[in-house]
Amino acid sequence: MPELDLLIRGAEPLPEIGIAGGKIVSFAAGSAHAEIDARGLLVLPGVVDAHVHFNEPGRTDWEGWETGSRGAVAGGVTTVCDMPLNSTPPLVDAAAFDAKRAAAEAKSVCDFAFWGGLIPQSVDKLEELAACGVMGFKAFMSHSGIDDFPKADLATLRAGMKRAAQLNLPIAVHAELNRDLPRTGTSVRDYLTSRPIAMELDAIRAVLDIAGETGCALHVVHVSSSEGVEFIAAAKQRGLNVTCETCTHYLTFTGADMERLGAVAKCAPPMRDADNLGRLWEHLRAGRIDTLGSDHSPSPWNLKTDADFFKVWGGISGVQHLLPALLDAGLEPQRLAQFAARNPAQRFRLPGKGRLEIGADADLALVDLRESVTVGAEDLFYRHKHSPYIGRRLRARVARTILRGNPVFADGKIIGTGGGKLLKPL
Ligand SMILES: [Zn+2]
Repeated sequence: MPELDLLIRGAEPLPEIGIAGGKIVSFAAGSAHAEIDARGLLVLPGVVDAHVHFNEPGRTDWEGWETGSRGAVAGGVTTVCDMPLNSTPPLVDAAAFDAKRAAAEAKSVCDFAFWGGLIPQSVDKLEELAACGVMGFKAFMSHSGIDDFPKADLATLRAGMKRAAQLNLPIAVHAELNRDLPRTGTSVRDYLTSRPIAMELDAIRAVLDIAGETGCALHVVHVSSSEGVEFIAAAKQRGLNVTCETCTHYLTFTGADMERLGAVAKCAPPMRDADNLGRLWEHLRAGRIDTLGSDHSPSPWNLKTDADFFKVWGGISGVQHLLPALLDAGLEPQRLAQFAARNPAQRFRLPGKGRLEIGADADLALVDLRESVTVGAEDLFYRHKHSPYIGRRLRARVARTILRGNPVFADGKIIGTGGGKLLKPL
């Protein structure tokens, strides 16, 4: 047997992992140029976070590829799928694809894939984007928060989903339909009241109809309500090609937490009540939720400070804590591996990712479950050191992250620079 580049010894549940040429090549001991002693650590496939906003180019001062990807690998995430917004210009044509690719190739320490954008102005650009290598197209059914990424009305969705089906690529939707509710005030509670679960259900119902008409693969991102998951599960049973994501924060925070934490916890759709949170966990364990993402969507602090909560930037900084927060909350490691690595890699056809198997990319997270650590602002690798996870005591710590056989994070430090590569769907 040829010599290994790296042998990882002693991790549970795979005590010998042999790596050569960036791939996993054996699960047996052998001679190796380098070894990592992983006794006492759990090994998981590197997380595939199919939902981040790194905002570069154009809003690099909000996050950017360097700091965003550092946060990713510090959290055991080895692949991120970047949304078409809030980079500027948004990724709605080949020129924007090339600009984002150049920025990410120069700076990212994790691998990456790109979502293209479906907006009314980009319906005729989907072929062009598919040829570039986008993994699918993201659309908003409500205002995106960014004026250069307008919402897709139902006619745009219908036209876009027809084309996406021909291109064999999925559409991802932010599912909320506005209800024009009278605004009651400016507090967090008023904000929660302004975005009821019914808005999410209206949108899911409408987009499921269009998925049925067009045959387009549909992925509903950040589903916040248990009823939303149930609608999607029922549609799957009817034979629709539909999957859904929920995010770490809907499984670890409630609306009451948003009231307590304020701006760092603002997101849309908002967090719900404790009963709903419990039902989301049941759906997850029953396999009715397909993927877990962070929806990492940071901004500078000055956009988080308005006295009117409706004007505060909505977006949670969370890519660094998807894995530790969910293990801490009791998600079984093998389920985390399924929902946060294998399923997204499979759904979005990301080659070599999401599995600890011979021939797969050697993307690994080594996790220490033996001690609790309290998250501090100084632990964050983000450009802006705010997050709702600060102050939370987590019984899981990422000890090392390995990308295609290269250690990229160890013992609290980023190792090396760059090295991330673009993934196109198979
Ligand atoms: Zn998002």
